[in-house]
Amino acid sequence: MGKPTGFLEIDRKLAPKRAVSERVNDYKEIELLNSTEDTEAQASRCMDCGTPFCHNGCPLGNIIPEFNDAVYEQNWKYAYDILSTTNNFPEFTGRICPAPCESSCVLGINKPAVAIELIEKSIIEKAYSEGWVIPYVPKVRTDKKIAIIGSGPAGLAAAAQLNKAGHLVTVYERADQIGGLLRYGIPDFKLDKSVVTRRVEIMKKEGIIFITNSNVGMKDKLANLTNNFDAVLVATGSTTPRVISVKGNDALGIYPAMEFLSQQNKRNASINIELNHKGEKYGNTNIHAGGKHVVIIGGGDTGSDCVGTSNRHRAASITQIEVMPKPPVDRASNTPWPNWPNMLRTSTSHDEGVERLWSISLQEFIKNDKGELEGLLIGDIIYNMKDGKMEQEVINTRKIPCDLALVAAGFVHTDHDSLFDQLLSVGVKSDERGNLVANSSYQSDNEKVFIAGDARRGQSLVVWAISEGREAARNIDLFLMGKTSLEGKSVSSFDLLAK
Ligand SMILES: Cc1cc2nc3c(=O)[nH]c(=O)nc-3n(C[C@H](O)[C@H](O)[C@H](O)COP(=O)(O)OP(=O)(O)OC[C@H]3O[C@@H](n4cnc5c(N)ncnc54)[C@H](O)[C@@H]3O)c2cc1C
Ligand code: SF4
Repeated sequence: MGKPTGFLEIDRKLAPKRAVSERVNDYKEIELLNSTEDTEAQASRCMDCGTPFCHNGCPLGNIIPEFNDAVYEQNWKYAYDILSTTNNFPEFTGRICPAPCESSCVLGINKPAVAIELIEKSIIEKAYSEGWVIPYVPKVRTDKKIAIIGSGPAGLAAAAQLNKAGHLVTVYERADQIGGLLRYGIPDFKLDKSVVTRRVEIMKKEGIIFITNSNVGMKDKLANLTNNFDAVLVATGSTTPRVISVKGNDALGIYPAMEFLSQQNKRNASINIELNHKGEKYGNTNIHAGGKHVVIIGGGDTGSDCVGTSNRHRAASITQIEVMPKPPVDRASNTPWPNWPNMLRTSTSHDEGVERLWSISLQEFIKNDKGELEGLLIGDIIYNMKDGKMEQEVINTRKIPCDLALVAAGFVHTDHDSLFDQLLSVGVKSDERGNLVANSSYQSDNEKVFIAGDARRGQSLVVWAISEGREAARNIDLFLMGKTSLEGKSVSSFDLLAK
């Protein structure tokens, strides 16, 4: 470890953000980078704790203390080499990971945690600017061919790893662009799409074949892939939205958050919005919040992305409602360190302006006589103890104005479409939630078909999708070759403690 007293001398310093007054006028990224000197100082706060719990907090097992030390020692190339052994895409996680590693940082017990995510982003951006990120073309090719369905972070991570092992990889994507939710879903102000394109271009040079506008199940049949490839990886995500079953939910003016968000990604890229993120025609081709009273149903991250986008559209008002009670401002006692804390999260989008309401019951979508949405009937949920049981009561029922309702109430399962039916017909199983089932080797009940990412675990995080893609790739390599030299998740502190 470079500086034993770094954590005593230096305070946590995050990168500057563009001012709200400036950033709401465009869709450019909000967060900037610290200077090289500041980042090296931040890395010196990593305190050689002995048992780095951050290591286990990161689903990729990123080797955090080692890359922090290399940055502090100004050996950025070595830091990049360490980081890239466990993470194919630090430029994505360094921007949009909620950083569970920081919640389990040992320094975080009594001081602000090491700024791990920012250091990760700084390493990869330095690597790009120095020309260290170059295509890896395998010296030896095997004769194995692998088809990957879906080009989100799970599919991309698996493609990169399997290509590295020498296999010929073809990625099928139903949308017109590669990237899954990184491309269509996550707003540009959190992740600029040039960052996704920059990586995909490198992957193409590595020999990976990408086929867009190709809905497997519809255009290309699953059987074509299972017959012509040695293995098939299904990484189709989980974007079927939860439907709000209350009176009036057929009103004009209610849309799933994904349709709203992905349209804005397309507008920013000057892509026609006639087809949605699935490559299908959607009922209304222009979902815009400009001048509207917007209510976002759901208090999570997708809802927060709708807040930021609605502010950029110049909505007349923005309200975000959530059925759950307001979380505590600090870590709740039922999620002690090093767990991911239950606590109030205020995003950069919230900072730009929104009214957040908690413990709200949505009772009805109110329509005018043309069937258009004009308001929501909501009430406050309170809890009463009755005969030893907690009972829910709705009080203070009231109407709030709303002519655009965006449903961000979560995703129920992977799409139950033609591909899903074809997968079931070749022996792949689905679980009780409606996602696809694979064993601990990511292999389904059809030995040639593997599953990874949200399609298997349900809507989750980019870092988990990358982790699943890498693990699935390792198991596919093992299945095809009988051995593998692809890296698995690095050994975690918890694993070491268990030994
Ligand atoms: C609005 C929003 C914001 C989010 N923000 C964050 C965030 O800030 N940080 C974070 O960590 N996570 C975030 N997430 C979650 C994260 O994006 C997902 O967990 C992650 O993208 C899942 O990766 P995946 O590869 O499994 O699936 P996806 O990214 O969903 O990719 C699946 C791909 O498969 C394609 N596909 C589906 N069916 C077919 C078919 N039949 N044929 C061909 N292609 C098909 C889809 O078009 C899609 O491109 C967000 C999610 C949403 C919805
Ligand atoms: S990928 Fe996420 S959890 Fe892992 S080190 Fe980076 S910020 Fe932390």
